[in-house]
Amino acid sequence: MTDPEQTLRDSLPPQALARLQSLRLSDAGVANAVLDVSGFDAVERERLEQAVKATLIGQPGVSEVRVALTADKVRRRIVAVGSGKGGVGKSTVSANLAVALARMGRKVGLVDADIYGPSQPRLLGNEGARPAAQGDKLIPVPSKWGVPVLSMGHLIAPDKAIAWRGPMASNALGQLIDADWGAAEVLIVDLPPGTGDVQLTMLQRYKPAGAVIVSTPQDLALIDARRAIQLFEVGEVPVIGLVENMAGYACPHCGEVSDPFGQGGAEAAAADLGQAFLGRIPLDLEIRKASDAGTPPAAGEGPQSEAFAAIARRIATWLDNA
Ligand code: ADP
Repeated sequence: MTDPEQTLRDSLPPQALARLQSLRLSDAGVANAVLDVSGFDAVERERLEQAVKATLIGQPGVSEVRVALTADKVRRRIVAVGSGKGGVGKSTVSANLAVALARMGRKVGLVDADIYGPSQPRLLGNEGARPAAQGDKLIPVPSKWGVPVLSMGHLIAPDKAIAWRGPMASNALGQLIDADWGAAEVLIVDLPPGTGDVQLTMLQRYKPAGAVIVSTPQDLALIDARRAIQLFEVGEVPVIGLVENMAGYACPHCGEVSDPFGQGGAEAAAADLGQAFLGRIPLDLEIRKASDAGTPPAAGEGPQSEAFAAIARRIATWLDNA
């Protein structure tokens, strides 16, 4: 006589069978399947669950199908990207580092913690999309670049000013960070600019594994960068290193690089402060244009993409050795 549970197993497609941990059929005709969904994101989990349900319910003797999902806990680490002040390209750098890491095969998510001035939906080209929710958790919005994103910009209309006070802002941030990040092993968090209490609370509450500081080469911005380093020190978050953004101007006509803001300031400051220097991104009109169009330069080819990739490699190495 054939074993009815074996018959059910045999009916499953190979992808589902590879994930099946147990399958029992009760006398009342209830099939109970347990599936291992480690490393799957919400969409893949849903797809597998539905495929198994659809297959089993069609089998003789099965009146009901119950599926339970289990997963190994992903070791997920936060990399906070901060700057002493706004306008230095922190959001641009965050988005492109996330994309560069994803291109290297890392599983990455991006949180726009700049909740008063969210720009990641525009930078990643998924403006207007809304996150779904499962239970009490948000499901991040996919982007074309292999990086799921969550931003207040996905939750509120772009023309609505946010006038929240501190605790509401922290709670909103919590929703973004505690979302269902699926298989993401690294969460890049684009912090609000500056070094105030909101930032410190966020660092203490979510304990990033490390921080990246973005600065322009000018002295004034570097004073702010020093302040950002202090913020991370107070929050006991190790600084991975400094990124110099808008370093040297690449002329769109002749390609010659000049240095309207000086060059090497962040590298010298990093050395002064005993911090690592992660690399420099040139001031390049193409970076601004591509970013405004929702096409991160790191997703393309050429020198801008390589500049982001080089910094991403240093961050990945740091994480691997942390
Ligand atoms: P922040 O997050 O620090 O406020 P943004 O990332 O929003 O800064 O950048 C501010 C502006 O500068 C944006 O218009 C952006 O496109 C532009 N920008 C950022 N980095 C560069 C760069 N390397 N070259 C040219 N424009 C840049």
